[in-house]
Amino acid sequence: MTASPSAKPAKPKLAFRPLPVPQVDVHGFWGDRVDAVAARTADILYERCVEARMLEQIDPDRPAPGVVIPFHSPSPDEAASVGFTGSTVTTQMFWDSDWGKTIETAAYSLYRRKNPALEKRIDAVIDMYEKLQQEDGYLSSWYQRIQPGLRWTNLRDCHELYCAGHLIEGAVAYYQATGKRKLLDVMCRYVDHIASVLGPEPGKKKGYCGHEEIELALVKLSRVTGERKYMELARYFIDQRGLEPHFFDEEARARGADPKAYHFKTYEYNQSHKPVREQDKVVGHAVRAMYLYSGMADIATEYGDDSLRVALDRLWDDLTSKSLYITGGLGPSAHNEGFTSDYDLPNETAYAETCASVGLVFWASRMLGMGPNARYADLMERALYNGSISGLSLDGSLFFYENPLESRGKHNRWKWHRCPCCPPNIGRMVASIGSYFYGVAEDAFAVHLYGDSTARFDIGGVAVSLTQASNYPWDGAVEIAVEPQAPVAFTLHLRIPAWSAGAALEVNGETVKLADVTSDGYAAIRRTWKKGDQVRLDLDMPIERLYANPQVRQDAGRVALSRGPLIYCVEATDNDSQLHRVSLPRTAGVEAQHRPELLGGVVTLSALAQADAADGWQNGLYRPEPPATSQTRLTAIPYFAWDNREPGEMLVWLRDG
Ligand SMILES: [Zn+2]
Repeated sequence: MTASPSAKPAKPKLAFRPLPVPQVDVHGFWGDRVDAVAARTADILYERCVEARMLEQIDPDRPAPGVVIPFHSPSPDEAASVGFTGSTVTTQMFWDSDWGKTIETAAYSLYRRKNPALEKRIDAVIDMYEKLQQEDGYLSSWYQRIQPGLRWTNLRDCHELYCAGHLIEGAVAYYQATGKRKLLDVMCRYVDHIASVLGPEPGKKKGYCGHEEIELALVKLSRVTGERKYMELARYFIDQRGLEPHFFDEEARARGADPKAYHFKTYEYNQSHKPVREQDKVVGHAVRAMYLYSGMADIATEYGDDSLRVALDRLWDDLTSKSLYITGGLGPSAHNEGFTSDYDLPNETAYAETCASVGLVFWASRMLGMGPNARYADLMERALYNGSISGLSLDGSLFFYENPLESRGKHNRWKWHRCPCCPPNIGRMVASIGSYFYGVAEDAFAVHLYGDSTARFDIGGVAVSLTQASNYPWDGAVEIAVEPQAPVAFTLHLRIPAWSAGAALEVNGETVKLADVTSDGYAAIRRTWKKGDQVRLDLDMPIERLYANPQVRQDAGRVALSRGPLIYCVEATDNDSQLHRVSLPRTAGVEAQHRPELLGGVVTLSALAQADAADGWQNGLYRPEPPATSQTRLTAIPYFAWDNREPGEMLVWLRDG
């Protein structure tokens, strides 16, 4: 065994912390998205949770609703029988997590827009949780109200700590947004209870959650309360994962089940097949994987733990070179909601859960805690602008769970889902987008994302405001005004995206040669900044034809279009021909056009393409002559905006002509 517990706490080398949500005002592209969440999604999440009967489950003053969502097969009767070893799961078990994320979305939305009615409703939800909490600190609406007596018997399948994690994140966000600490105090008591049951000390269970999440939540809790013990518990969960004897085996035996009868067959499903430092392939359930790696990255940053960092880099390489959709989507299979084999990236059946792309944003942003590196930031941006926000309609009211790259017109947005994990996940991510823009270290400041925004932060004891004026992502010109209250020396790191080969940088009108100052994809400008300093970054935004590694069978002979951070798709409504009949000649010029009236204002791409004609095929399915072709105008829109108009076909990977 090569794994060892995390190294002794070392001083973090160069920890970059994200700015809290209220310290960044976003406008422009992301401002519109945040407004949609704050004005619509946040209320919708609450209302749909209530419609789903979630309020009844957490309110101790009302009768419990019983099992509203049936157990997955086999039935609860079988589940109660001696020796039962199958699934005992219903998505109703995760309702506390939906509340946690709904609280978090509401909290971040309150920074954007006062909403006293919503705040009152969330206060009432929090009152219910406070009342529900048991004397010993335990808190789970499922195990207290629906299946009492079974707590801590199936961490592998039943999301008990996952639910706690989401409630912790909700509590931290709500405290930060409103100053109200009731839920934070409730969750601290619960975590103290968890630490009395699980942990390395003799007599405690050596357990951790089958669905990772609490690890990253505990890091947030530790940062906001200043309590190191919560960080230690997060580190314990990460260090313990996958050690032998395997906790999930022991736990199964303890409840009279055969560990080998595990529904998903392998602990790869929940990334506990090996100690985390030995893991080198991204496997199993995609969202779980992303949350685990996010927690590992936090602990690597907090403890200066290079052994975790090395493992994370191996995992990053594996994901990005073999298993990531061009949209930043991941996890192609519905069966395990996750990964299959290398280069298996089907388009029409892509699962690519919204939560998985959101999880990739979480992971990538936490890798940036260890220092600016475009290797992570470029893909964070890819997932942000494409595979994650595709999960939310432009008006903030409808959702996708799966994000395929091809549709025959039947994959449409829905109002709610029996497993509604995605709506509040994309809601909270969008509402907190400001915190992904920047990172601040002791004497350095990093700009990870571009777009109209103002950041306020302290560096070297001096208050600084930094304003970006830009029409990004539609245009690559970025004007940055640095306004420190007094002159202060720090390094400003600016991401130079890999797709922008012709970027140009000026500081106060003087050209800076990028090759001289750029490493890991970030330009570093060290100087004493003073009021009135201006940085101008011009990112060229070439329209690119992108091709897949030939080992990806589903993309052979196909081409995708991108411009800047955006991946494009074609939709039936903008195009005359059936989409599979169109091919894009390699010689065709592709033009960008700003269309302020379309889809809230987008840049479209268009080109003259060839379409296979249906003429002469009336009498048969096959013939020796190929179809005739005719010229057609192809119009592509940004992928994130698809299925916001009438239903129809959609295609990302076009035939390469
Ligand atoms: Zn989801």
